Amino acid sequence: MNGVVFDIKRGCVKDGPGLRTSVFMKGCPLKCVWCHNPESQSPAIQRAVATDEVCGREMSVEEVMGEVRRDKVFYSASGGGATFTGGEPTMQFDFLMALCGAAKAEGIHVAVDTCGFAPRECFAALLPCVDLFLYDLKCMDAARHLEFTGVPNGRIIGNLEFLDSAGAKFWIRCPLVPGLNDSDADLAALRDFTRGLRNMEKLEICPYHPLGLEKCAKFGLSPRYAGMSQPTAADLARYNAFLRPREGCAPARPQAMNAPAGRTATGKECYAI
Ligand code: SF4
Repeated sequence: MNGVVFDIKRGCVKDGPGLRTSVFMKGCPLKCVWCHNPESQSPAIQRAVATDEVCGREMSVEEVMGEVRRDKVFYSASGGGATFTGGEPTMQFDFLMALCGAAKAEGIHVAVDTCGFAPRECFAALLPCVDLFLYDLKCMDAARHLEFTGVPNGRIIGNLEFLDSAGAKFWIRCPLVPGLNDSDADLAALRDFTRGLRNMEKLEICPYHPLGLEKCAKFGLSPRYAGMSQPTAADLARYNAFLRPREGCAPARPQAMNAPAGRTATGKECYAI
């Protein structure tokens, strides 16, 4: 079976526990204004405007697993494994299921990074072969979720509650963009909702960074929104005050948004509540 993958990164430390290989799959049903991988949204293979760079290539399950296996020894030593991400990996559901099943059969820890906007049956089917879900929760306010991502949040919240009630392990990841979804009311809604979940292991916040705008220019895409700014140190301190860093976990700091050369900036900071 084949699917379309746009990147495979080895040695990742922010896409789940331990040292991981992250497999980025093409296609996403959302159109988030802050998207840092806008070239991942279309399921099609795309070409850059001014260079010969291509985003996406067809790969078989065995080809992907060949890459994933290369770091198996490090997974054992670090508690790591494979993370299937995107885009939105459930968009290529059969391919995703085959990859999760193959990794699981080889004793590799499996994480799936999802926006949660997929039929409930997808998550029910994934449950036996996924060790950890990295679940995006972008905005608790329904109207603004629709405005900023292009879809309503009811299905996303419903699927998360389903996973929680089924006993799945998950981390929640929330992008925060000044003025869009980071008001005190937004943070309180996020805190209050996540406090009611029994199986959340971690809440990560991802401060906005403008990397996606450069990628839009590179692939000839039009950004849906202009004028977004990165959170200031004062913003991060406010997030910190609302969400309270877990003991031993670094507080939010602006430097976290600077990625090493050649790596995608993530700016993730984690909080436990
Ligand atoms: S869900 Fe993720 S990949 Fe999809 S548009 Fe939003 S930020 Fe981009």
